[in-house]
Amino acid sequence: MILQEDDISVVIPLYNEASVVEELYARLSRSLTAITLHYEILFVNDGSDDVSLERIKAIAIQDQKVKYIGFTRNFGHQAALMAGLNYCSGKAVVIMDGDLQDPPELIPALYKKYREGYKVVTAKRNTRAGEGIFKRLTAKYFYRIFSRITNFYMPLDTGDFRIIDRCVVEALTKMSERNVFIRGQIAWLGYKQTYVLFDRNERQQGKTAYSFRKMVRFALDGITSFSNFPLKLATVTGFVISAVAFLIILYALYAWMVLDRTVSGWTSIIISSMFIGGAQLICIGIIGEYLGRMNIDIKERPFYVIEEGNVNTDSFEIQEENTKLTAS
Ligand code: UDP
Ligand code: MG
Repeated sequence: MILQEDDISVVIPLYNEASVVEELYARLSRSLTAITLHYEILFVNDGSDDVSLERIKAIAIQDQKVKYIGFTRNFGHQAALMAGLNYCSGKAVVIMDGDLQDPPELIPALYKKYREGYKVVTAKRNTRAGEGIFKRLTAKYFYRIFSRITNFYMPLDTGDFRIIDRCVVEALTKMSERNVFIRGQIAWLGYKQTYVLFDRNERQQGKTAYSFRKMVRFALDGITSFSNFPLKLATVTGFVISAVAFLIILYALYAWMVLDRTVSGWTSIIISSMFIGGAQLICIGIIGEYLGRMNIDIKERPFYVIEEGNVNTDSFEIQEENTKLTAS
């Protein structure tokens, strides 16, 4: 079986996006046909509760360029992206959100840059229309802090919307970590990267599938997968608090020997033991966060379980053969 070579694959995770799928498909087809006739659109249904999957299937029956994968349940945005990357076949792969916040009309511009020789072309937001101040601020500062504490360049003001070369896809799928943070991994991989500016639209229908809890999880995954900064922070806090405790101990000794007020020293001992207890708790908590992740990695569970789909599952092995060829 020969790997079907498309010029472009578009990978789109979907979670309860039934209301926009048709418009998305129409706009994608229009933008893609302007570039090439050899493309595929790969939808990954991440266990939607609505009729997203049925809509995609209906589209796939009419258009052979449309492929889909359906998960058995909601495995999360990043796992859905990973599945899409594993099963797509294009030489260039576009990854984007399915809620029309990432305009399909930008793909020709991304592709043009890609053809200039860049391996990764990121869509960088000019504006974030319709997103609350909270989301904007948390996103803004999260990526700035992220860039500070990791030692590789992370493009600011971007989501997952980008076009990547097949070699980046191969490299990504070889990263065996379980706590995936794809935009971080792509940045970490390096390669020749650039960006194209665009105006991010308002979410047209439905509401963000990223709850506050998912956002915090995502941010934690991002930081702990790429940085030991929180671990170092624990050590630093531990030292600072121990130093303060040491001064308190000195004072307690001084009060006992010179001032002869041992009873009042009781208070400071209580305070210092509290301090130490607190510091230890913080450290243990942060170490626990890393241990938890290792625990997940050790289990080596699959990212996701696929129930059905009309993609060729053999192509995964063939992709691995291709990698060996390029590697040698
Ligand atoms: N998504 C997903 N699984 C999830 C949450 C989101 O596949 O558990 C998809 C969603 O359908 C969309 C993309 O991931 O295509 C980005 O999600 P969303 O628009 O909710 O994120 P936001 O734009 O608010 O950051
Ligand atoms: Mg969105």
